[in-house]
Amino acid sequence: MNLIDGKAISAAIRAELKEKVAGMEKRPGLAVILVGDDPASAVYVRNKKKACEEVGIYSEVYTLPAETSQSDLNGLIDALNDNPAINGILVQLPLPKHLNEREVTLRISPEKDVDAFHPYNVGLITEGHPRFLPCTPAGIMELIRRSGIDPAGKRAVVIGRSNIVGKPMALLLLAANATVTVCHSKTADLPAVTREADILVSAVGKAGFVTADMVKEGAVVIDVGMNRDADGKLCGDVDFPSVAPKSSFITPVPGGVGPMTITMLLSNTIKAKDAMYFLDRESTKEA
Ligand code: NAP
Repeated sequence: MNLIDGKAISAAIRAELKEKVAGMEKRPGLAVILVGDDPASAVYVRNKKKACEEVGIYSEVYTLPAETSQSDLNGLIDALNDNPAINGILVQLPLPKHLNEREVTLRISPEKDVDAFHPYNVGLITEGHPRFLPCTPAGIMELIRRSGIDPAGKRAVVIGRSNIVGKPMALLLLAANATVTVCHSKTADLPAVTREADILVSAVGKAGFVTADMVKEGAVVIDVGMNRDADGKLCGDVDFPSVAPKSSFITPVPGGVGPMTITMLLSNTIKAKDAMYFLDRESTKEA
């Protein structure tokens, strides 16, 4: 069994990104909007700001009160869409109940949609011509590649079909030439399906969900779950002690997929800046 060290891989990629930013004429900029006072969201936003500083990305954090109206939030997104110092815009989810997440997703300019949630960007990913890759699945693909695993020709099984993790994960594995099966809560005889997997990705959100009897000997096991166990400790979906000895590679929780998500956000922000530069040059050419 080989442990996939997400912390180390993430640090290596951030060092590469830092070098890239240092070579850029102007720093890329990321705006993060936090509405309300959810403590977990506040931690995520703080971590994103810290990560930006680490690689030299300019960042702005907008902390809005929980009672912010949809029109005020839309107005801020419009202003950031028009702000040339900002290349990426991220609205931390979940939003307070009275705000419409879909309206927010559609409002962010696809050129600045560094979460890759806008239907335009989802369409590009589906077509196989992505501009931005969704952060968590893209982070997982980096973990797989940088561990020397080639998904081509392998059977991949993804448990979970959310728009944020499961569905885009399946698309990225498909683009890497794996043969992909997506499972969900209505899948019949889930263990029989997961036992077929050379690469098994679990994005369910239930502690201890993936047990040894669900895993083929020598499988690559990627645990996306972020759960709390009975003692309040962070844990994944995979019953690590029983599954690890059967796997060829496995990600731990914490220290596996988690650290990669913000790293891919940084990567997308840099990509967004590159794209703007390209567009600027194109418009200059035309002028
Ligand atoms: P989600 O929207 O709740 O989706 C969970 C998926 O699991 C659904 O598709 C659901 O099926 C499926 N599921 C639930 N029970 C099942 C069962 N008994 N058998 C088979 N499938 C079942 O969650 P998410 O946003 O994708 O997140 C999944 C987990 O990943 C969570 O723990 C979350 O915290 C974590 N996460 C981690 C990161 C990171 O950076 N590490 C990032 C994002 C999410 P149905 O569609 O049929 O309901």
